[in-house]
Amino acid sequence: MPLPTQESKAIFERSLQSMVEGGSSASRGPATFGDYPLYMARGEGSRLFDVDGNSYIDWMMAYGALPLGHAHPKIVAAVSEAVATGAHFATATPIEIEVAELIQQLVPNAERVRFANTGTEAAMATIRLARGYTGRPKFIKFEGHYHGWYDDFLVASNPQPPVSLGHRHDPIKIADSSGLNRNALDDTILVPWNDLSALERAIDTYRGQIAAIISEGIMANMGVIPPEPGFLQGLQEVARANNILFILDETVTGFRTAAGGCQEYYRLQPDLTTFGKALGAGLPVAAFVGRAEIMEALAWGGVLHYGTQNASRIGMYAARANLQTLLENKGAAFDHTWRIGHRLCEGLRDLFEELGTGAIVQNVGPMLQIMFTDRPAIRDYRDYCAHVDRAKYQQFVKALFRHGIYVTPSAVLHSVVSVAHTDEDVDLTLAAARNALVDLEGR
Ligand code: PMP
Repeated sequence: MPLPTQESKAIFERSLQSMVEGGSSASRGPATFGDYPLYMARGEGSRLFDVDGNSYIDWMMAYGALPLGHAHPKIVAAVSEAVATGAHFATATPIEIEVAELIQQLVPNAERVRFANTGTEAAMATIRLARGYTGRPKFIKFEGHYHGWYDDFLVASNPQPPVSLGHRHDPIKIADSSGLNRNALDDTILVPWNDLSALERAIDTYRGQIAAIISEGIMANMGVIPPEPGFLQGLQEVARANNILFILDETVTGFRTAAGGCQEYYRLQPDLTTFGKALGAGLPVAAFVGRAEIMEALAWGGVLHYGTQNASRIGMYAARANLQTLLENKGAAFDHTWRIGHRLCEGLRDLFEELGTGAIVQNVGPMLQIMFTDRPAIRDYRDYCAHVDRAKYQQFVKALFRHGIYVTPSAVLHSVVSVAHTDEDVDLTLAAARNALVDLEGR
C-alpha cells in the first residue's frame, strides 16, 4: 500500500508561491525527489515522521550531519543551555577553545583550528590559504569530487555523458553551473582520481604553479568510491616531493570513518583538513585545521577569513556534546556504526544476488551507496558516468519511501549509519528493500 503523502504535496504546491523548487536547495526539491519532496515534521533517534504522519527509518541523517541520530538528548540539552545563556557575544568564546582542543585530541594534524559554518566555506578557505601561503595560483581537483559550491570547485562534480569527458590525460572542464566568474576554472586543474600516473603527469605539466591538491578521502558525491590501496599515500608523497600542499576534505568522512576520520583510518598527514557535517550534530558547524605554519597565515586577516557566525556559540555547545558523546566508551560509537553498516551492506548484497538484481553496494564502514550497474565495482568518476543507472536507483528509492525507508533519492549521494540505528532497523530495511524490488521488477 503506498503511503499517503497528500500533505507534502499540498505544502509543495503552496511553497511554489514563496520559494524556488519548494525549498532552499536543488537537492531537496523535484530535481532530486522527482515530483515533490517529503516534508518532515519530526525526528527522533533513527526515525523521521512526515507531515502526513508516516514514519521512516532515516539513512540520510541530514546528509551525514547527525552522527548521533535525531534529537539526541545530550545535543538537545547542550543547545538549550547555549540558547538560554546567549547566542552570540561578538567576541572569542571559551567554548570554541574547548572544541578546538577536542578536535586536536582526535585529529593528529590539527595544530591550529579555525571554525566556519559550512563545508563549502571551509574548503574555500583552505584553497585561499594554500594560494596565499605558497604564492602559487593553481590547484588540482579530482573528477567526481565535490567540495562545495565555490566557483573554482564547480567542475566535474555532476555526472556527464561519457562522451563529453574527453581523454583522461586532458579532461574537458565542464562547469557545473551557470554564472561562474568567467576565469574561475582557469586555475583548477582537473585530474582523474585513483590514478597516480595521471596526477604525476599534471604536476609535471604545471610545475611551479600548483599550490595544492584537494581530495576527498573517500569519494562520497559520486556514490561511495573508496581509494585504491596506496593511492592517498602516493598522493601525499607526490605532493610533498613537489612542495605542494595536500588538502584532505573530510566534510563527509570526519568523525565518521574513524574518530580521526580518513586521516586516522588511512594514516595520512595532510597539510590542511576540512570538516563539516558530523561535527555540529545538526548545527551548521565546520572547521579547517592544519599545520601551524600554514594556518598562521590567517592571522590579522593576512589571508582573509571572516564570518559573523563563525564558531557560533550554539553550534559550539552542540559540537562539544557531540564529540564527547562519540568518544564515550572508547569509541564504541564507531564499532557500532561499522557493524551496522556491514550488516546492512551484506544484507543488500545477498538480496541483490538472490533476486538477480543488477546492483552493487559500495561502502567504507558506515557510508554506503547502492549502484545499479552490471559492473562488479565502480572505481572512479568515468566508471560512474558510463555504468551507473541513476534513473533506476531513483525508482528504487521511491519504492523504498512507500515501504517506510528514507534514503537519498540522489544516486550520487550516499547513506550513512548513525549511532541511533539498530539491528532491527537493518532487518526492517532489508525486508522493505525486498518488497521495493518486487514492486519494481515484479519478482
Ligand atoms: N565537501 C564535501 C566532500 C561534501 O560532501 C560537501 C557537501 N556535500 C561539501 C564539501 C560542502 O559542504 P556544505 O554543504 O556544508 O557546504
